[in-house]
Amino acid sequence: MFLRVSLYISSVIFLLGLIYKVAGWFRYRIGIGAGEILTSTRIFSAIKGILSTLFSAKILTLLKVLVLDVLLQIRILREDFLRWVMHIFIYGGFMLLLLMHALDKTITVALWKNYYPTVNPFIFLRDLFGAMVLVGVLIAIYRRFILKVPRMFSNAMDIYAILIVAIVMFSGIFLEATKMVAYSDYKRMVDEYSGLSDPQELKSLEAYWVKEFGVVSPNLKGPFDEALLQKGMELNQSSCESCHARPQWAFVGYGAAKIIHPAGLGIDRARLPSVFWYIHVLACLVGLAYLPFSKMFHIFASPVSLLADGAVGKEKLTPANRATLQAMELDACTHCGTCSLRCSVIMAFEEIANRNIFPSEKIASLQALASGKKLSPQELRHIQEGVYLCSNCYRCTVVCPAGINLQDLWFSVRETLLQKGYPEVLVLSPLSFYRGLMKEETVPRDYEKPLIQAREAIAARCDLMKRKDKVLPLTSTNRQLQSGLNLSAQAKTFSACFGCQTCTNVCPVVGNYENPQEALGLLPHQIMHAAGLGLRDLAFGSNMLWDCLTCYQCQEQCPQGVHVTDVLYELKNLAVKRVMEETLQPVERK
Ligand code: SF4
Ligand code: SF4
Ligand code: SF4
Ligand code: SF4
Repeated sequence: MFLRVSLYISSVIFLLGLIYKVAGWFRYRIGIGAGEILTSTRIFSAIKGILSTLFSAKILTLLKVLVLDVLLQIRILREDFLRWVMHIFIYGGFMLLLLMHALDKTITVALWKNYYPTVNPFIFLRDLFGAMVLVGVLIAIYRRFILKVPRMFSNAMDIYAILIVAIVMFSGIFLEATKMVAYSDYKRMVDEYSGLSDPQELKSLEAYWVKEFGVVSPNLKGPFDEALLQKGMELNQSSCESCHARPQWAFVGYGAAKIIHPAGLGIDRARLPSVFWYIHVLACLVGLAYLPFSKMFHIFASPVSLLADGAVGKEKLTPANRATLQAMELDACTHCGTCSLRCSVIMAFEEIANRNIFPSEKIASLQALASGKKLSPQELRHIQEGVYLCSNCYRCTVVCPAGINLQDLWFSVRETLLQKGYPEVLVLSPLSFYRGLMKEETVPRDYEKPLIQAREAIAARCDLMKRKDKVLPLTSTNRQLQSGLNLSAQAKTFSACFGCQTCTNVCPVVGNYENPQEALGLLPHQIMHAAGLGLRDLAFGSNMLWDCLTCYQCQEQCPQGVHVTDVLYELKNLAVKRVMEETLQPVERK
């Protein structure tokens, strides 16, 4: 009764959780323009996409993905053999245990009409599958806590996942082991199934089970008479063997029973088999009920993501399906850290200790963002910086074993965050190159907005920009101000500038405007001059600084050997640093 009620409750929670999570794929809005697409449109579009895939040649691609990527997990094998063994053992062992052991009355009985859990091959297979999961869990613990795979972070969900599987497995093993040594369980089996009542026969059978199968009896202790054992063996063959194979076949439980054998009588008195039964069943039910809300949900989401990735291929998705796929991909992440191992910009973490630079951590933060959780400006800032410090190199997408199109995800989230109105000065850097390439993917009216915001953030910190009239009288070189620029030795060559304007004349950006001064503010030679005067605020606020293509033409042509491009580049870095330090909250450095 207890079991049935608990099972119903956890199954209902599991199903409701499943519905809630899948509904989230159609509700969460992270992609560009996703906020404007109705949930019903997304559902309709997804159904249409699925049907058109199923009734086309793409079904063959799906079958290939199903076998290679979902069942054999080839993507993981390509990256790391040990991790593949771990995954196959946990995933394969757990699924087989679920189907053949936990659901035996539904599935196994239907497939094998002579099924009985204590006969072969079932007694052996149950332990074989259990051993697989156990080995997988031990490898997981070894990789995470002993080997300490670089760039692999452990969060509360990772610990929970390992813990719940470990509790289920170890309680199962000790349940089996304590039952093997407990006299009460032996007695119950004999009373219920053997049909024996003669005291001498019962004694022979008991002696045989004590000697051969490790039962700890309060009545009998070896060594036993050979004739008694011979009789016990015959009785075992005639009365027990048809429904109970030798316990040695359950090799994991039997191994544990050997270890706990000396405490057998105490184990029976304390009714530890019942205790382990409750722990095992409750852990399974808690695991089942919490599954949709935990990292384990990837058991469902990852295969769906892999299949979707296979079906989509290089095809351009409709905005509705793209939004749905990206929401689903967030659930598919297993937090395995493979992407972080391959990420091209991880060295930035040495300088800016923001965990969101790591793709695996970025995606964990995005899950909170997508679910609508209210994040502080500081948290948003961390995510924004993390997604912007990405070179869109595609390496994470190629290796992700869950088939997540990370590159596209970063782009979508980047745009969504930029449109939230939080200034991002990195948008003025070469890191914006990919954004420029993807200009057509953005909403046209929104493309310029982040640029304007970033420039305003810079200008807001440059007092001289607001007091241009005060600039003109400052004509003599001020060495103190110059040294305050903190430029490198080569960039300091600006002091050799004599204002010939060659740099400005050869600049392709300047040449692009009819009235360059109006569009760009200070021109290259004027920036060199401003630097000479130590007026960095004036230089920082100049659009020229941010529009420079770094083509080096000015530097090559300068008759004075001024490193014009280097000066511009370093001034730009100084401006960003200053705005980051003064306007925006600095990212935690731990
Ligand atoms: S995004 Fe992919 S590679 Fe990265 S942690 Fe998640 S599942 Fe692993
Ligand atoms: S696309 Fe971005 S997050 Fe992915 S590996 Fe490259 S730099 Fe790292
Ligand atoms: S070309 Fe050289 S010397 Fe002439 S204005 Fe430019 S930086 Fe100065
Ligand atoms: S490096 Fe910049 S400032 Fe110099 S010529 Fe090229 S675009 Fe103009």
